[in-house]
Amino acid sequence: MAIELNGKVLASKTEEELRARVDKIREKLGYTPVLATILVGDNPASVTYVNMKGRACERIGMGSRAINLPTETTTEELLAVIDELNADETVAGILLQHPVPKGIDERLAFDRIALDKDVDGVNSLSFGLMSMGKDAFVSATPYGIIRLLKEYNIPLAGKNAVVVGRSAILGKPVSMLLLNENCTVTICHSKTENLPEIVKKADIVVGAVGKPKFIEADWLKDGVVIVDAGYNPGNVGDIDVEGAKDRSFAYTPVPGGVGPMTINSLILQTVVSAERKAGL
Ligand code: NAP
Repeated sequence: MAIELNGKVLASKTEEELRARVDKIREKLGYTPVLATILVGDNPASVTYVNMKGRACERIGMGSRAINLPTETTTEELLAVIDELNADETVAGILLQHPVPKGIDERLAFDRIALDKDVDGVNSLSFGLMSMGKDAFVSATPYGIIRLLKEYNIPLAGKNAVVVGRSAILGKPVSMLLLNENCTVTICHSKTENLPEIVKKADIVVGAVGKPKFIEADWLKDGVVIVDAGYNPGNVGDIDVEGAKDRSFAYTPVPGGVGPMTINSLILQTVVSAERKAGL
């Protein structure tokens, strides 16, 4: 019987623990530190995500501060807002919702976020430190994936992990985290040749492509661990999980697998940042 890697269950269990940790932080600091969320423009999906992040903070008793900027905001103006939040003692974490409107240099903005407040793990230096196995905040979805695999004691060392996708927020960092766990990692992308054959060798496959059911069930070998990070319209992942889950060792359902772990990892890292501020 395949193991269902249930992100919903782990996320709600973690929230319970976080509530108690936030109480201690508040007691020690005498105020409630906040997660500052920056939304540039009014992309409906981004508005929804930012609201969900604010609500997650509320559920654990952490404060949140929503900063909404107009679509015409310049890179310089956005950097000035980030500088202000970097300097604000009451801000434990900064989340810049992406994608930002086209006119803005997103990388420059991500890299302006102070490392100790980079709770969404988007700064290039956070990525570099994490890749070196050093302490750093980690990109939220990849961190959620590793936490989920560990929660269910999925063996990682020595396993062939195939990651399909190499984005800065997902494919690349999850590959580095799996490497840090001593997996043998293959990173695939749009120029990869013979993808089905490569996927067939995977003990662990991570779908991070952004195309519904792109990874077909018959590409997957028996006993594989299926991690579907994809989230496409209609609650469809990047892997045909349904078609292969009965032959798998473990799988993430969509929805309810990787999805809930992303915001959960963001608030977990915000709490860790606040604890450091409080000397806890
Ligand atoms: P992205 O930035 O668009 O990256 C997609 C990656 O897939 C790229 O590296 C691309 O390769 C690769 N790719 C595209 N077509 C391919 C093909 N035919 N064969 C092999 N590789 C191909 O997307 P992303 O932001 O990483 O997101 C990926 C998925 O994860 C999406 O479904 C997204 O909704 C989901 N996601 C979910 C969460 C969550 O909270 N659950 C968070 C983030 C993302 P190139 O680099 O060569 O272009």
